[in-house]
Amino acid sequence: MRDIQIGGLVSFTTIDYPGKLAAVLFLVGCPLRCAYCSNPHLLNVGDGEYDPDKVFEWLKSRVGKLEAVVFSGGEALMQGDALIDYMRRVRELGFAIGLHTNGFYPDTLARVADIVDWIGLDYKATRAKYPELVGQNIAYDHMMRSLDVWLATGKEFEVRITCDPRFVSKMDLMEIANDLHARGVKKFAVQKYVPHFEDYEHGTTSEQRNQFFADENLRATINALFDSVIWRE
Ligand code: SF4
Repeated sequence: MRDIQIGGLVSFTTIDYPGKLAAVLFLVGCPLRCAYCSNPHLLNVGDGEYDPDKVFEWLKSRVGKLEAVVFSGGEALMQGDALIDYMRRVRELGFAIGLHTNGFYPDTLARVADIVDWIGLDYKATRAKYPELVGQNIAYDHMMRSLDVWLATGKEFEVRITCDPRFVSKMDLMEIANDLHARGVKKFAVQKYVPHFEDYEHGTTSEQRNQFFADENLRATINALFDSVIWRE
């Protein structure tokens, strides 16, 4: 079995796992090609820059100092058995395990359900706009299956959306919030789109990016649908 491939690491964060001090490992490889991706260097499956054994030794030195390890990407679940084996070893050190996922691998998500304590699941757009945003026709259906898989576990999670005005309108956001509410989702995060690279052909204005956050009626209506809504501006 090929080793897990780690392309990046954040040694300390308070915002990537709710309520816990965490480290984040960024795994290489992603099946999607989102128009706003801020980690294009992680998209192709290649060799990670970090030696997984050295990272594991470092994690051992963090026992008692950190509470959780979050696997992010890219799409961490793309690494299948290597990821599962590594997650299990990290969990045995006593860390809570978090996962940031685009939901493309519902079957692998089901396989890690016993070792992952919390996930942040991306719901990127309405079904109609998903292919244009992520470059994949089946991504929406896979993400929905992942949502069902995780709902069935009864474990904690958050569904998050990045409001890129090129692909999400206020009406879309309302439709998605209603859909999640109907499915029993309790925690929703609405994230502001921050361009990491200039897109001269399809640029956005700050007013377009702020529209979701400036609309008090929209915010109040969405807030009423969930136990918790985080507006990440
Ligand atoms: S799912 Fe995440 S890592 Fe993959 S292309 Fe989209 S934004 Fe980038």
